[in-house]
Amino acid sequence: MNRHAGIGMTSARTRDRLVQRLRDQGIVDLRVLERVRVLPRHIFVDEALASRAYEDTALPIGFGQTISQPFIVARMTEALLQGGPLGKVLEIGTGCGYQTAVLSPFVELIYSIERVEPLVQRARERLLELDVRNARLRHGDGMKGWPTQAPYDGILAAAAPLTLPEALVAQLAVGGRLVAPVGPEGEQQLLRLTRTETGVTREILGPVSFVPLLGGLA
Ligand code: SAH
Repeated sequence: MNRHAGIGMTSARTRDRLVQRLRDQGIVDLRVLERVRVLPRHIFVDEALASRAYEDTALPIGFGQTISQPFIVARMTEALLQGGPLGKVLEIGTGCGYQTAVLSPFVELIYSIERVEPLVQRARERLLELDVRNARLRHGDGMKGWPTQAPYDGILAAAAPLTLPEALVAQLAVGGRLVAPVGPEGEQQLLRLTRTETGVTREILGPVSFVPLLGGLA
């Protein structure tokens, strides 16, 4: 059976309910809400969990990792898009590729790094299945960024470092935005840094809960 078909859990009503919940929680960018509504999330999780794919919750994707909660994906996408169109974007923590797919129509090119090798391959397959063609995926340590493609108009991290790695801030273009959770478990804040001609401005967007950004490869 076609996994994208509108069977039970993927019905329009289930997805509308998710989008309504995101609105209630304060997501205002209509482009982002529409993208979440049309993008199948159930293909990013194991079949056994597919019936829960349109709940606003993180779900396991193996290797001790999770697919992010739709609210947080929408919030980060919205935060990154505020301030004008984006060319090149660097994503750290591809995971299953859901955030990559949500972001893809709004940017020219996404460079995405994931430290768990088997997740990279799986994410590649899923993005291909969804016809997402503007994402380049790599197995690597995102703490160091992807310097050969820098500078980036946007940088987005799906895992939380204790403090922001200098290497990432350095790879931001003038006018570029970096959205990332920062801090130890239980005390993380979502930050947005904007590079200006003269330095960097910093905004705190609110408390969040992410898996830690780990150094090295797995
Ligand atoms: N973007 C995913 C969420 C993935 S969870 C989604 O859309 O659902 C965060 C991911 O960050 C995990 O897959 C984890 O393996 C990865 N990660 C953690 N530290 C990393 C690092 N230093 N470099 C790259 N990826 C990292």
